[in-house]
Amino acid sequence: MNSPAVESAPRLSEAMLRRLDTPGPRYTSYPTADRFHTGFADADYAAALGRVAAGGDRPLSVYAHIPFCESLCYYCACNKVVTRHHDRAERYLDNLLREIDLHVATLGGRRAMSQLHFGGGTPTFLSDTELRRLVDALDGAFGRTEDIEASIEVDPRTVTTARLKTLRTLGFNRISFGVQDFDAQVQQAVHRIQPESQVRQLMVSARELGYQSINVDLIYGLPRQTGESFARTVAQVVDLRPDRIALYAYAHLPQRFKPQRRIHEADLPMPQERVTMLATAIDRFTAQGYDYVGMDHFALHDDSLAVAKREGRLHRNFQGYTTRPDCDLLGLGVSAIAKVGPTFGQNAKTLDEYYAAIEAGRFATQRGYSLDDDDRLRREVIMALMCQGRVEFDAIESRFGIDFAATFATELAELAALVEMDWVRIEPRAVQVTPLGWYFVRSVSSVFDAHLRRDQSRRAYSRMV
Ligand code: SF4
Repeated sequence: MNSPAVESAPRLSEAMLRRLDTPGPRYTSYPTADRFHTGFADADYAAALGRVAAGGDRPLSVYAHIPFCESLCYYCACNKVVTRHHDRAERYLDNLLREIDLHVATLGGRRAMSQLHFGGGTPTFLSDTELRRLVDALDGAFGRTEDIEASIEVDPRTVTTARLKTLRTLGFNRISFGVQDFDAQVQQAVHRIQPESQVRQLMVSARELGYQSINVDLIYGLPRQTGESFARTVAQVVDLRPDRIALYAYAHLPQRFKPQRRIHEADLPMPQERVTMLATAIDRFTAQGYDYVGMDHFALHDDSLAVAKREGRLHRNFQGYTTRPDCDLLGLGVSAIAKVGPTFGQNAKTLDEYYAAIEAGRFATQRGYSLDDDDRLRREVIMALMCQGRVEFDAIESRFGIDFAATFATELAELAALVEMDWVRIEPRAVQVTPLGWYFVRSVSSVFDAHLRRDQSRRAYSRMV
């Protein structure tokens, strides 16, 4: 039976697919993280936390970054430490616990976690005992709301059914498997071997264990991928039926990300082939009951994310789309980003710097950003577009005391070109993203990005879609 998603999925022309496959900001935050600066450091972060301490019992979101990985994936652009020495996790864990204590001391009162996410690196590099120690510390410090979304990124090579069971007993109810591609040649070319049968077994176990949501990450544009091979991977993923699928484009930036130097450029698919892969994935997912939620993400039509999108209740944070409203985010661990009130703070990116700060009793914040009034206004507009696909002038005007049409005259004039392309409709008192425009929602949103406007020499963002 066809779902409404099938009937409403727009056809994308090749020119549009090419446009999707180009770099651009992803707006997991506004301003984007490349605007953070070193003028904002640990004392500023502590002050920001102090200011929100009086925020009563509003729930918290907590992200913990576990940087260790046992082996190197050649496409990797993450902050990680490749090592087989599991004892290195001990000092790291000690410091995470100290960092939690620092937060409790500064935040005061008890604010429960409504979202918890372990990312990396490889969170499951930690042993079950170590994971339990971390989870216990977080529970002791903050506690959980009854409806917490607790998620963990899982490298299928590092877990067994028994480990999935442990994670479940630790209260994780969402799980994300890094798959990337099932083709053996591609897996060899990126140095990440994990047969489909292994992932299938783990997904079956995760379902039996009652995980509420299972996500699969895929990457297109990897070495040795072809349109045909990727179509096979897409078919296999559809057959596994995850609740959510994230489909990312590989961005080959070997000058910036050292592991990528091991990838032979000659093995990379040509732009036309990338477009074919993207088209195949979109067609296949939307024809098989997945809704395009926006920005790389697909979800089964009845998944809470797809429902939230239809009901205009989507939100966005550093992990992508979420059904939960915007809340203060604590970022724990090396390179983790926090969002507290109108400020962002990012921890030191090396273990040495992170340890030095935390062991000296200081936050490890090394860069960040305090939003000014214009940033806050634009953030509201951009997040409304990214999440609801609609910005109502009345809502923005009453909140910020501005005249929308006058303040954004330049932007509205620019949007006219996107109206021509059927990406947006400009209504008398609103801008509405069309079903087709959802695929280009970051291009639509970027019209309101003052930093990008000021800095037309675009930086090397991760590739679009
Ligand atoms: S892609 Fe993930 S698992 Fe692979 S090296 Fe990078 S962080 Fe580690």
